Amino acid sequence: MQAKFVRIMILADLATGEKAVIVRVHGHGSFRKRLIEMGFIQGKEIRVVLNAPLKDPIEYEIIGYKVSLRREEARQIEVVTEEEAREALVSDEHLQALPADLEETERLEKALAHVAEERHHNIRVALVGNPNCGKTSLFNIASGAHEHVGNYSGVTVDAKEGKFHFKDYDITLVDLPGTYSLSAYSPEELYVRKNLLETMPDVVVNVVDASNIERNLYLTTQLIDMNLRVVMALNMYDELRHKGDKLDTVQLGYLLGMPVCPTVSRSGEGISELFDTVIRIYEHQDPKLARHIHINHGAEIELGIKHVQPYIAHNEKLKAQYSTRYLTIKYLEGDKDIEKLLKKDCSNIQDIADARSDEQQRIQALMGTSLESAIVDAKYAFIQGALAETYQRYQEERPRRTLTDRIDALVTNQWAAFPIFILLLWFIFWATFTIGQYPMDWIDAAVAWFGEKVASWMPDGWAKDLVVDGIIAGVGSVLVFLPNILILYFFISIMEDSGYMARAAFIVDKLMHKIGLHGKSFIPMVMGFGCNVPAIMATRSIESRKSRLITIAIIPFMSCAGRLPIFVLFAGAFFPENPATALLGIYLLGIVVAILSALIIGKFIKEDDLPFVMELPPYRVPTARAIGRHTWEKGKQYLEKMATTILVFSIAIWALGYFPRHEGATGAYQQEHSYIGMVGKTVEPALEHLGFNWKMDVGLLTGIGAKELVISSLGVMYAQEGSASSADEGDTALQSALKASIPTAAALAYMVFVLLYFPCIATFVAIKNETGSWWWAILLCLYTILVAWIFAFAAYRIGLLVWPV
Ligand code: GDP
Ligand code: MG
Repeated sequence: MQAKFVRIMILADLATGEKAVIVRVHGHGSFRKRLIEMGFIQGKEIRVVLNAPLKDPIEYEIIGYKVSLRREEARQIEVVTEEEAREALVSDEHLQALPADLEETERLEKALAHVAEERHHNIRVALVGNPNCGKTSLFNIASGAHEHVGNYSGVTVDAKEGKFHFKDYDITLVDLPGTYSLSAYSPEELYVRKNLLETMPDVVVNVVDASNIERNLYLTTQLIDMNLRVVMALNMYDELRHKGDKLDTVQLGYLLGMPVCPTVSRSGEGISELFDTVIRIYEHQDPKLARHIHINHGAEIELGIKHVQPYIAHNEKLKAQYSTRYLTIKYLEGDKDIEKLLKKDCSNIQDIADARSDEQQRIQALMGTSLESAIVDAKYAFIQGALAETYQRYQEERPRRTLTDRIDALVTNQWAAFPIFILLLWFIFWATFTIGQYPMDWIDAAVAWFGEKVASWMPDGWAKDLVVDGIIAGVGSVLVFLPNILILYFFISIMEDSGYMARAAFIVDKLMHKIGLHGKSFIPMVMGFGCNVPAIMATRSIESRKSRLITIAIIPFMSCAGRLPIFVLFAGAFFPENPATALLGIYLLGIVVAILSALIIGKFIKEDDLPFVMELPPYRVPTARAIGRHTWEKGKQYLEKMATTILVFSIAIWALGYFPRHEGATGAYQQEHSYIGMVGKTVEPALEHLGFNWKMDVGLLTGIGAKELVISSLGVMYAQEGSASSADEGDTALQSALKASIPTAAALAYMVFVLLYFPCIATFVAIKNETGSWWWAILLCLYTILVAWIFAFAAYRIGLLVWPV
């Protein structure tokens, strides 16, 4: 190809009726992907159906069908026109050699295809990286030029271009000034950014200094936001090797969504592989090689992005050239240059600005830092996470500088990590139940008092029974757990917001991988000990669908706070010597069943395990406000569950036990001959192999509404005459009643069954909502019932050997 000046033609400039062939599509990744899906591929012929000067969109015909493109979109498409093809027919030797008897239209077609092909093989590659990472050396060795190579910042003042031939391609290499970031702080940064977004290289080579990888990757995270085609040249690889450090470049590439090529630009090692990869990235969308990832900035910032992004995306003009996520992040950072751009191009700039200032205030209040530095922290958390998984320093004992490093050294230490973690968990559960006991008693007393008061105001009759025994007692039995829930989530919020939970997830990550899960599944699982509903909602942070579905499936086996009182009651009654061991055993059984289930269910779900980074944010003292809000949010979810599902079910179960009415009969007689008693007797044959009697079955049935209801219905059924409606005052009475009528083996089986069977209606609904399918919810619930039956059966049989009847 001759070195002649070619004016690049773009699709938007073609007039109505003109024909052209596509050379390439510019713009950010998701835009390009959309156009490729529409058929805008190199070599395809396109005709302008209608392009009037003021008309937007423009109408085109491509591969036989009509499409409209906005003018901005058509600006991103480079083409070869018939006019250019005609010129080439005269000037290009290849085309002059065409047989003379060829028809004119055919000649032109051949010329169009030829020029398009040639231009397509002409690619622009930009080198982007920190100062002194070896860009100019790489530029020189690749292009054969001899730029001055210096070991100090700022040698390259503006872009240098060099051309070289590689395989079938003519590569124009651009050496851009070194920058640490792509904020608009320095002229260099602004220059590089403008170059990337406006001159638009086909591929960006991100040169990274392997001996200083953490700081270098910050720039990389910004390139990821921009959604460009990036290949990483992991330069100075010789130094990394020399130090004895180990880096899993393939895994790092997966995590970052871009290929990583080790290079030594001093010697030229890896340079040819680097440009091979550049061409592969340019030519196809190989998802194994490159995928677009979103850097997770943490729940709060992501919420902010979600709030602002739609306002920016509302402006079609920007959408072809820029990733709106990138614009949003930059705008949230307060980037002056992006502010100017949005001001110029956005009609709704006021809405955008308002949304941002809301978010700035919210984040400032929650995190105690500015939005800008919160975003920087989040990017470093991402880098830390990616490196923790892939990078191994030769000398682990090199001096730890920051506080975060020092805390990390302790809590992720291979010997101390698990003991510390288990100790913390133990403390949290201890605090939850011991401290929680006081408010629990107060609420209990308040509910009882309120029930009595209401009872004394209302005239006797079914309405009074409904209000007192159905609504107040039902909801009250759930309300008592609110303090436990709040305390538990208070501690979980502290663990999350301080940055410890991310480490905990990291520590268990390897173990979790063994059962097809991810470290990120761990937090929802711990939350499941409080209440399954918010736990299932928390699985949203898991990117992999497979991991997420499995996590949702096994959370019901994490014994929630609602099940605890049943275990306390039974353990106290039947294993009075060591109730704590029984309790611990039950919790452990839940965990074991969860692990087994994960292994089984994992077999049935399609693999989609794209790797993702587990962010490691710096430690910080969480703000009271953030803790308060996060704790309250979880509490609110619990309260909502109570106000809706549990209320309805309390009433339904009360009604099923209340009707048909047997006036004057005892509570127990009434229960036995009520609807629920009938159902209990119907299911009795299925459960009698587990040693359960019909009263216990009724308890399980009520537990479908909420596990909390099991005790109150057992209380009613086992209560002595006269105290039928108040199970609270006679917990010990209930315990002795149970002991008198249930063999120990059956009690053990009952605990196992309660642990494992159908979680509760609210969890069922949460599963449906989060998986988006009733089928999943139904299937999972059937599964839990099956598992419960099998394990309870085993427990009963074994129990009979130990405690024969
Ligand atoms: P730039 O600022 O990114 O353009 O970096 P330069 O190309 O000017 O290189 C900075 C210094 O790093 C020079 O002294 C180079 O010789 C040296 N250098 C470049 N690449 C490598 C490499 O792969 N290995 C080693 N050991 N040194 C390199
Ligand atoms: Mg340089």
